[in-house]
Amino acid sequence: MTDCLFCKIVEGEVPAKIVRESERALAFRDINPQAPTHVLVIPREHRPDAAALAASSPEALAEVVGLAARVAADEGIADSGYRLVFNTGAGAGQTVFHVHAHLLGGRGLNWPPG
Ligand code: AMP
Ligand code: ZN
Repeated sequence: MTDCLFCKIVEGEVPAKIVRESERALAFRDINPQAPTHVLVIPREHRPDAAALAASSPEALAEVVGLAARVAADEGIADSGYRLVFNTGAGAGQTVFHVHAHLLGGRGLNWPPG
């Protein structure tokens, strides 16, 4: 999609601090981190949200989650625990409509989230 910020990151047209890559997924640091570790994990293909990706490419969704787990291990938070969040829809705070998992950790995380 030509007008999608995260497609532009995939294409290298917008810079990002990439921490890990795989064939179908990409992980980069959130520009406005909400925790010591705040990484976004996206599929290279454009889908608006997690449900759409699950319907069209379940293996790409699995790769997003698997890449997030490897980043959590890299960041040393696999044992202490981390949160994976797919905000879905504007009412839930989604602002970029290219599916992304927020990987959050490195501090205590309250439940339920706000
Ligand atoms: P959401 O609100 O769930 O759609 O999350 C979008 C996230 O993208 C927010 O946490 C933003 O801080 C982050 N973000 C926006 N622009 C960029 C960018 N150029 N590079 C990295 N993260 C970004
Ligand atoms: Zn996109």
